[in-house]
Amino acid sequence: MTMSDQPTPSAILDGVDLRALAASLSTPFYAYSAGAIRARVQGLQRALDGLDARLCFAVKANSNIGVLHLMAGLGVGADIVSAGELWRARQAGIAASDIVFSGVGKSADEIAAALDAGIWKFNLESADELALLQDIAYGRGVVASAAVRVNPDVDARTHAKISTGRAENKFGVDIDEARGWFANAGRSPNVRLDGLHAHIGSQILELAPFEQAIARVAAFWRELREAGHRIDSIDLGGGLGVCYRAGHDRPIDPDDYVAVLRRELHDFDGRIVLEPGRYLVAEAGVLVTRVLRVKHGRGRDFLVLDAAMNDLQRPALYDAWHDIHVVQDASAPLQCYDVVGPVCETGDTFARDRVLPRCAAGDLVLIGGAGAYGASMSSNYNSRPLLAEVLLDAGRYAVVRRRQSFAQMIANEQLPTAWSEA
Ligand SMILES: *Cc1c(COP(=O)(O)O)cnc(C)c1O
Repeated sequence: MTMSDQPTPSAILDGVDLRALAASLSTPFYAYSAGAIRARVQGLQRALDGLDARLCFAVKANSNIGVLHLMAGLGVGADIVSAGELWRARQAGIAASDIVFSGVGKSADEIAAALDAGIWKFNLESADELALLQDIAYGRGVVASAAVRVNPDVDARTHAKISTGRAENKFGVDIDEARGWFANAGRSPNVRLDGLHAHIGSQILELAPFEQAIARVAAFWRELREAGHRIDSIDLGGGLGVCYRAGHDRPIDPDDYVAVLRRELHDFDGRIVLEPGRYLVAEAGVLVTRVLRVKHGRGRDFLVLDAAMNDLQRPALYDAWHDIHVVQDASAPLQCYDVVGPVCETGDTFARDRVLPRCAAGDLVLIGGAGAYGASMSSNYNSRPLLAEVLLDAGRYAVVRRRQSFAQMIANEQLPTAWSEA
């Protein structure tokens, strides 16, 4: 195999030659195209043109502060699910007034931190949480603005582990219960219940589940309006799917999605909120890794990469497909590989039976669709330091997270020299 002298087109991302970058930074690392993220944000913003709409990026999809800072500059707020994400969003320059707080397990400390920061809205998921927010807001002498997360009981027809809108899922409350919350709103004077929220799942590639969910939320809003309740925001969550497999996954056109909002909510006079995560960043990112070795097994050839399941969990967790590109001469013969990482788990497999140009140790490999739920889900399993993240923009790059050092990896650990009694 020979590597061509000219970088192949697939090795250029946002004007940056990833081969040159990989020669100066050690692999593996994540690279994100700022241009691609901007294009997604602005495409969605254009589709929403004329509506009173706000994008709140789901921070859990990619929580790097460099990425969040880019979002802030584009006028995008944040959908957070923890105090840690609140902290990150604020560090990155996202205004508290552009932050919504979702999640079934908000703790008292997290609610207090979000109230003190002055976030825009709490997306409440249980009666217990409503009571807790009332208590904490009362204690501070403030009134919190909150939306009820309703579970519209629709099947998003996505992977079971990322479906959230069925009656049996842990998220939100059913419309009957939500009705009761509004009827009894007077019992929680420190919570202004003025929003509806729904998020039915992730990586959704069909419009129908969104149409059903939006129609149910819209019908509930009309019912509340008739009953005299003022709703000033309807938040339809995230979930827009992306293309992980070229020629196979067909994402929803944002204009078609927004057309449903325009139709179902044509008479809604408040603000529409969307919480896209994956859609804004997944396809903008690649995991840049190298072949450590090619191992010939019985009837199988294994491509052993220097990236592993701790760096990108999606294949191990969801059996997710990611397109894989080998950066080299297009004339190399094709071969079938199981693409694996060095971690001591059979699940540490990025792909099985994948046909790729024949590889040798040292070849650069790009795992696509890695900008969402990649670095943000990574771990130190097998004591592998968290990897670097790099933002690329029109031929330039900036390291937005340095690779963790061994010392940083064990910084909070200590030998048991001082024993105490509880
Ligand atoms: C995860 C999540 C999102 C983002 O989902 P994507 O599929 O990445 O768009 C939005 N809202 C809530 C409440 C979430 O839990």
